[in-house]
Amino acid sequence: MPVSPYLKAFNKKVVKNKTIFRRYLTKLGKRNLTTLHTDIAALEPKVWQEVKCLECSNCCRVMTPTFTKDDIKRIAAHFGQTPLEFTDQWLKYDAKDGDWVNKVQPCQFLNLKDNKCSIYDIRPSDCSGFPHLTSPRGSDYLTLYKNNIEFCPATYALVEKIQQLHG
Ligand code: SF4
Ligand code: SF4
Repeated sequence: MPVSPYLKAFNKKVVKNKTIFRRYLTKLGKRNLTTLHTDIAALEPKVWQEVKCLECSNCCRVMTPTFTKDDIKRIAAHFGQTPLEFTDQWLKYDAKDGDWVNKVQPCQFLNLKDNKCSIYDIRPSDCSGFPHLTSPRGSDYLTLYKNNIEFCPATYALVEKIQQLHG
């Protein structure tokens, strides 16, 4: 599937608004809102009513997950490979962050015809949790959203909703 109209529309919108939203998140962090954690938990289900990952797949196209040792063992075994064979074929080591990451983008496991992950049931734990809208606590949320807002419509939608709630 080529880039969907949904993703094209998002990319256009985000180019225009990403700086505005990042500035907003910086200001929001300085307010130290005590309800932020519970507000975000309440807003997340509304985000997923609007955002459809199968019309997007942008994270799999333009970002890379990190692969833990367990991820590598599990996925390598699925393909009948040793962990070393798997990393040699697909991954590179990011020495700065100490992470195994994909060599190529889009991810080699993304089926570009239907936007589905071809290893969905055994995908890396980073993929299972992405975009991690509710797992971090405190100001970690805001750094994560600043990093992901440019790529992830769900993150963008959540920040929009936070802004509508808190101004
Ligand atoms: S492993 Fe699957 S979910 Fe993770 S980036 Fe690749 S295609 Fe996407
Ligand atoms: S998690 Fe975000 S970037 Fe990934 S497919 Fe869903 S909406 Fe798109």
